[in-house]
Amino acid sequence: MKALLIVDLQKDFLPGGALPVPEGDRIIKPINKIMDQFDLVIASKDWHPPKSRHFEKWPRHCIMETPGAEFPEELDSDKIKKTFLKGTGKKDDGYSAFDATNANLHKYLKKKKIEYLYIAGLATEVCVKSTAEEANRKGFDTTVISTATAGINQKPDDEGKALHEMFRSGIRIIDTHV
Ligand SMILES: [Zn+2]
Repeated sequence: MKALLIVDLQKDFLPGGALPVPEGDRIIKPINKIMDQFDLVIASKDWHPPKSRHFEKWPRHCIMETPGAEFPEELDSDKIKKTFLKGTGKKDDGYSAFDATNANLHKYLKKKKIEYLYIAGLATEVCVKSTAEEANRKGFDTTVISTATAGINQKPDDEGKALHEMFRSGIRIIDTHV
């Protein structure tokens, strides 16, 4: 069984949001297009309390129950079976979707008999990378869909470097889903 995990595709990470990923919106259409090719589609969300140590490192973003934490309207979010909420504690960065606190992602994937995990979403060099590396360590056959992810690129090649590091750790990088 294969699953698509959409990481943190939330309004605050899109152009106009609190912590925008430049061109983050270009991944919405490709994600909508590929969703039907998976046995299961799930998502993670950054879901921070208003006060968190996390905001010493980052501008405030994705505060739980606020519009900035929502999926963009353009995303076919009704196809998402379950959303895993992370970064929910005051000292919790929650970069990896496996750090979700509302449910245990690892157990959930095991229960659904998922062997192949495909990862899309934002941002490539932060939460996508943390999630993919943890999935790989936990033994899932892990693929990152580079055309369905986007990077912050604080330094110009951060995204490229992250993709290269993931590849070297045994994660497959593809630019279309098949
Ligand atoms: Zn965050």
